[in-house]
Amino acid sequence: MRLTLTLTVHRGTRNIGGSCIELATSAGDRLILDAGRPLDAPRDARGLLPKTLDRMAPAHVIFSHAHMDHWGLVDELPGHWPLWAGNKAAELMRLTSSLFGMPLTRDIWTWQSRDRGFRIGPFLVTPFLTDHSAPDAYMLLVEAEGRRILYTGDFRCHGRKASLVETMIARPPADIDVLIIEGTNLGTSKPVISETALENDFTALAREVPGHVFVNWSAQNLDRTVTLFRAARRSGRQLVVDLYGADVLERIAPGTGLPCPGDPHFPDLRVLITGAGKRLYARQGRSDWADAQARQPYATSRRRLAGRRAIVMTRDSMLGEFARGGLNFTDRDAYVFSNWKGYLDENSTSTGWARAQAACARTMHLHTSGHASPADISRFAVAVDPQAVVPVHGLSWDVPGVALPPIKRLADGEAWVIPAAA
Ligand SMILES: [Zn+2]
Ligand SMILES: [Zn+2]
Repeated sequence: MRLTLTLTVHRGTRNIGGSCIELATSAGDRLILDAGRPLDAPRDARGLLPKTLDRMAPAHVIFSHAHMDHWGLVDELPGHWPLWAGNKAAELMRLTSSLFGMPLTRDIWTWQSRDRGFRIGPFLVTPFLTDHSAPDAYMLLVEAEGRRILYTGDFRCHGRKASLVETMIARPPADIDVLIIEGTNLGTSKPVISETALENDFTALAREVPGHVFVNWSAQNLDRTVTLFRAARRSGRQLVVDLYGADVLERIAPGTGLPCPGDPHFPDLRVLITGAGKRLYARQGRSDWADAQARQPYATSRRRLAGRRAIVMTRDSMLGEFARGGLNFTDRDAYVFSNWKGYLDENSTSTGWARAQAACARTMHLHTSGHASPADISRFAVAVDPQAVVPVHGLSWDVPGVALPPIKRLADGEAWVIPAAA
């Protein structure tokens, strides 16, 4: 029997998010790359696994990183399918699940060392740590039946780990048959500046503003946390994160050199204790952990922060409590929205943005994308030089507007037998 490898993109050929990709050998072994929740799915929607994905036959599932649009359907995967992820990504998946009140109790197999292959049945999988707005994100090289497939997951070339991707561009894995690549930023003009440039912008702002710099950013975007920590240090301020931010750092930072509360190298990192934060952890049965944080020397309070100059993690849900504790926006402060602009509702009057404007605080949008620019997508694909590029996780692949190796355009659910190398 001729050995073949069949690729099916169950979801993701014509949208961003909800990725689900299958590789199947002629003997019926199956490897699923990501099982993501579509970004536009209502929060309580169920039954979202692609209908073309066979749930009866066995399979292994690897999650490229801990963004919900890549692992958010974990609860819908058959219980007998083994799950795999980077060990810190698995930690974040468990943290997010318990915050949503649906603790992830299934085992997740993890890999400790990067860039070293491991076997899952006939598949040899080599994870390459990559640069993305989620920590512990990987590209995955999968070898089986004489074919070599590289899946980029989500990546960029302008974050704090850009050198990882640049190294791959300089020395790409050889003889790739198929490159499955994300194209989020094709056809867009999103700002793509480096985290280092962003750090300089935050530092300049923090030196200029007489009061606090309140920043709305994702606690799981650790590149941004580092950017803000460095800006705080350069401007003589403390960086203040909430309990959730501290929880993320405690799980991810050890052994990485990242800022972590209580680490003597990072004395200017503080954890803000609020009633809402404590209630969040009480609901997860983790009051003991939150109470222990409150007793640490790095714990701080709204009253202690009032009148000082810090960079303060801010979420819209915290604003009422900030105000009751004497931490109000004033015209001496700045408020920075440091997420994708599409997440900011400029018409709402209850957002931090609107309230800061009402208080005559300075408002700014300082952000850079978690995804590669169109030029970098092209640079990466051309360097890898595959037999075929299979586009996923993008909206403008029909007119990408950049140079690319030959594209094999699939439809969602279409099974494609990967041809033998020429
Ligand atoms: Zn994604
Ligand atoms: Zn992502």
